[in-house]
Amino acid sequence: MAYSYEAPVSQSLFDRASVVTPGGVNSPVRAFRAVGGTPRFMVSGTGPYLTDADGREYVDLVCSWGPMILGHSHPEVIAAVQEAVSRGTSFGTPGEGEVALAEEIVARIAPVEQVRLVSSGTEATMSAIRLARGFTGRAKVVKFAGCYHGHVDALLAAAGSGLATFGLPDTPGVTGATAGDTVVLPYNDLDAVRAAFAAHPGEIACVITEASPGNMGVVPPADGFNAGLKELCATDGALYISDEVMTGFRTSKAGWYGVDGVRPDLMTFGKVMGGGFPAAAFGGRADVMAHLAPAGPVYQAGTLSGNPVATAAGLAQLRLLDDAAYAKIDAVSAELRSLVGDALTKEGVAHTVSSASNMFSVFFTDRPVRDYDDAKKQDAFRFTAFFHSMLEQGVYLPPSAFESWFVSTAHDERAVERIAAALPAAARAASEATA
Ligand code: PLP
Repeated sequence: MAYSYEAPVSQSLFDRASVVTPGGVNSPVRAFRAVGGTPRFMVSGTGPYLTDADGREYVDLVCSWGPMILGHSHPEVIAAVQEAVSRGTSFGTPGEGEVALAEEIVARIAPVEQVRLVSSGTEATMSAIRLARGFTGRAKVVKFAGCYHGHVDALLAAAGSGLATFGLPDTPGVTGATAGDTVVLPYNDLDAVRAAFAAHPGEIACVITEASPGNMGVVPPADGFNAGLKELCATDGALYISDEVMTGFRTSKAGWYGVDGVRPDLMTFGKVMGGGFPAAAFGGRADVMAHLAPAGPVYQAGTLSGNPVATAAGLAQLRLLDDAAYAKIDAVSAELRSLVGDALTKEGVAHTVSSASNMFSVFFTDRPVRDYDDAKKQDAFRFTAFFHSMLEQGVYLPPSAFESWFVSTAHDERAVERIAAALPAAARAASEATA
């Protein structure tokens, strides 16, 4: 596909980057491989806007893949960071900021009685699984195809959605032995979970699921799915781990737990709680968390865990996220969903705008999407055309048809108008696209 617009400075930075960094990026999806073209190198962000190295401004619907829920460079978050930095950047000792952030998390999310801070969502899920195995003395982990929990070896298995399929490694470097204790099941299929427990009674340490998946596009849990998982786990003595790295502090004040009220044994968080810095967490039942070192025998540690600058940013951001902030994000999300849907309908493009609270994405199919197999059946080539038209018109979407779009409190009327103005041409491009 040829693009009628160029980004020469980004292109030259990408060329330089590709010499010294594999694929030119530090996280694969940033490389635009799914949509083609030159990844934009951003130099600054303010409110709902990003500016790239060529000096072009975009309305940002990625929000750093979720964290920037107040928009970029929020003055109060920046002030908290500057104040923290002025006192030093890392001490390798406990500090009050960590306590305050942990208290804020515990106060917001009832199932979290104790929490441990880490530096990435990957670390949070990896540690939660180790803890679940240590607590139960069992080896097997159930996960769902299409759910992403970071690049944890045992969770990179997403092979075959057959009943109780043993996971095969999804990437070279993950050994069969590591993935062999992972059972991958189709999402939203409680019968498959029942069958897995029946096949492996007393062997499953935990079921881990995205609280509401956003990594195969947005595919919310069917009514009763999370409650069913919780019940099946409780009956067998396995732990129910809800991964709220993406949904946490975004889909409501208490994340997805605040939406469906299903009480997990362990939960994982990241993104929003770090205010744009590397901070993440896992937490849950106090009797389970008590097994974590130094209180208990399950080892887990981190040089930069609870970093004072990251915790200051996260705390400042969380304290600004009151009911009014969520009402605003929900309203902007609803408005955008209807604008996108109307534009695609007008051009006769088959689509489904799928949402979970204020997270949403567009599937280029009108068939229902309940799991990863359904998501993969969409006409992703139409997204590619849609994406590039939006980019050309100054709207930055996630460069993949399988990612959630994110909005922030900073997405005001002007930003929405700019998106609305770009949609007709993008919808036309999607309708004219060929596979
Ligand atoms: N869990 C979920 C649900 C995620 O969406 C992600 C990242 O997108 C992760 C875990 C991993 O987090 P990180 O990229 O901070 O390691």
